[in-house]
Amino acid sequence: MAEVLAAVERILGPRGYLHRPEDLTLYEYDGGIDKSRPDLVVFPQSTQDVVAIVKLAAQFGIAIVGRGAGTGLSGGAIARAGGIIISFARMNRILEIDLANERAVVEPGVVNLDISLAVEADGYFYAPDPSSQRACTIGGNVSENAGGPHTLAYGVTTNHVLGLEAVLTDGTVLETSGPDAPGYDLTGLLVGSEGTMALVTKVIVRLMRKPEIVKTILAVYDRPEDAGDTVAWITARAITPVAVEMLDGMLLRMVEEATHAGYPMDAAAVLLIELEGMKEAVEEQVEQIRDACLGCRAREFRVARNAEERELLWKGRKNAFGAVGRCSPAYYVHARRWRPRCASSMSWPGAMDSRSATFSTPATGISIR
Ligand SMILES: Cc1cc2nc3c(=O)[nH]c(=O)nc-3n(C[C@H](O)[C@H](O)[C@H](O)COP(=O)(O)OP(=O)(O)OC[C@H]3O[C@@H](n4cnc5c(N)ncnc54)[C@H](O)[C@@H]3O)c2cc1C
Repeated sequence: MAEVLAAVERILGPRGYLHRPEDLTLYEYDGGIDKSRPDLVVFPQSTQDVVAIVKLAAQFGIAIVGRGAGTGLSGGAIARAGGIIISFARMNRILEIDLANERAVVEPGVVNLDISLAVEADGYFYAPDPSSQRACTIGGNVSENAGGPHTLAYGVTTNHVLGLEAVLTDGTVLETSGPDAPGYDLTGLLVGSEGTMALVTKVIVRLMRKPEIVKTILAVYDRPEDAGDTVAWITARAITPVAVEMLDGMLLRMVEEATHAGYPMDAAAVLLIELEGMKEAVEEQVEQIRDACLGCRAREFRVARNAEERELLWKGRKNAFGAVGRCSPAYYVHARRWRPRCASSMSWPGAMDSRSATFSTPATGISIR
């Protein structure tokens, strides 16, 4: 190991790696339940650094694992067999914003939300919005093909990645382009490969124009079945909101206690519905959805009056994981690979595999995404 450490220090400098047990402890887990301590964590700052580390690992026969923010739920960022964790925390620059072509080139350690923040003043955003978007990185999103509430209308990460730069296990640097380019769709192959095929060192992401208007609706029900009926009603009439999320009574009480988002504590279920697009069309859809909700026995139909109210409603939903964590140190996560029939019907990412069905206490049989 001394030989490896010396070589790593030559490549990355004395502050470019961690090897003391107390430092490695922070890297022995991710958002799942498995634990395994790496022998070394390295912090490359360029593709060349990654290539050099990968070649070194190959030379010494050491396992390597890529790591973004460690929010993954399937244990992918854990060094199961020890070895080197390659953290992309210091490859976190937005390299280029090309509004004329509606794209940006970013390093893998860029936090998901930071892409939208960087372009929002120009009227653009990056669509995939996992609930972990304030922490998770684009490299992790690519590897997990992450989605989020708004993927109902926009699709998952694979629909928003136009090209990649990646380092293969022998140190070869590969550049891939989008699905429209001739040849094999290597971008499609790598997105969702869970870090098992290559280390992603650059991502070309699609930027989208912000809609003219956004309306966020909270519908409150005394019976969960009525909330389900409302979703069926909306779907049957071919209305595609950008998001439809249901929280049942037990979950919404946990969320409300933790976040004070304004959800009614005595309801059996709520639906959080978001519509966006051209003003006239959205206003018409709000009325159609009002009819659907009230027709399906919603006892309250509330449209957020401003951005603050909208943020608050989403804050509740996006902090659901943490809210459950307050009530129980362990709970069961149900996730499955789901291949939607068409892109426009994607409401849940193909991000997690069976390994992410994790742990339970009998008290909380909660299904949470
Ligand atoms: C509170 C919470 C809410 C969440 N909500 C959602 C959600 O709504 N939708 C969703 O899809 N997921 C969600 N997740 C899961 C998780 O946030 C996503 O899977 C996210 O994409 C992981 O990003 P990360 O940067 O944390 O990656 P990590 O956890 O660090 O890594 C995930 C995988 O990507 C690999 N990897 C990381 N960087 C690279 C790279 N540069 N090159 C190659 N491989 C790499 C790792 O090896 C690992 O296999 C949630 C998690 C939490 C904790």
